[in-house]
Amino acid sequence: MEKRNVAIIAHVDHGKTTLVDDILKHSGMFRDNEDVSNLSMDSNDLEKERGITILAKTTAIHYKDYKINILDTPGHADFSGEVERIMNMVDGVILVVDAYEGAMPQTRFVLKKAFEAKVKPIVVINKIDKPAARPVQVLDEILDLFIELGAEDDQLDFKTIYASAMNNTCSFDPDISTQTEGMGEILDTIISEIPAPSGDANATLQFQPALLDYNEFVGRIGIGRVTNGKVKTGQTVTISRLDGFTKQFRIQKLFGFLGLKRIEIKEAHAGEIIAIAG
Ligand code: GDP
Repeated sequence: MEKRNVAIIAHVDHGKTTLVDDILKHSGMFRDNEDVSNLSMDSNDLEKERGITILAKTTAIHYKDYKINILDTPGHADFSGEVERIMNMVDGVILVVDAYEGAMPQTRFVLKKAFEAKVKPIVVINKIDKPAARPVQVLDEILDLFIELGAEDDQLDFKTIYASAMNNTCSFDPDISTQTEGMGEILDTIISEIPAPSGDANATLQFQPALLDYNEFVGRIGIGRVTNGKVKTGQTVTISRLDGFTKQFRIQKLFGFLGLKRIEIKEAHAGEIIAIAG
């Protein structure tokens, strides 16, 4: 299955959680009659109760022949190291902006890191249903902001989708009458605009944990993207640190992401975002 890894960036309240729930719904992860409110990006408290602190809040979906991993990004500069590491795991970002408020200063930091990491942006102008929405000006402001933050030509050549996450509709056209149900335009744009992760599944295994986590049952967990090769449970691998220290260890458990959950898997290939325990 082909893969796409993207991070989602939004100022608080611009509709990230609602949009991710719509995306889950579109991919068939929820039945229509289930209450999906506040499930996805806000599931952190639930995870804490189970003794798992999620550093990378990842939502994974299957759409057409693709597996799409959507990584959450923390909203502000306090997490600068984490933002950089998230940007190194993805090939694109979705910027969600309120169609009335426009881009807020708090997202500048994360966007700058995205441009430095050379990832491709997609812009979603959300809340197009608001009576005072001003999507055309907001798009101009976003373009100015991208230029100011040092975006390269390829990054300035981004696709824009206008959405009402609340109504589960979107369109490539800012005219509200063109909105259609579902998030198909956003998902198709992720597939067409964001490059597939690089890496060779037949090469020697390379994996660098980008984030560390801890769980009382399995101990330390490293979350990251498999850069090259394949990894399997039970496999003995060598850890090498920057200072040259090396150590062998056996991989106890591997986790992938599906929907809002971390699921146990037996093996993973180059390009996949996984968690390794052992
Ligand atoms: P987050 O903080 O970015 O995750 O934002 P939420 O998804 O929690 O949304 C914040 C608020 O905006 C909630 O009250 C949503 O119901 C509302 N909201 C989200 N999307 C839309 C939209 O498309 N139109 C309108 N009018 N409100 C929306």
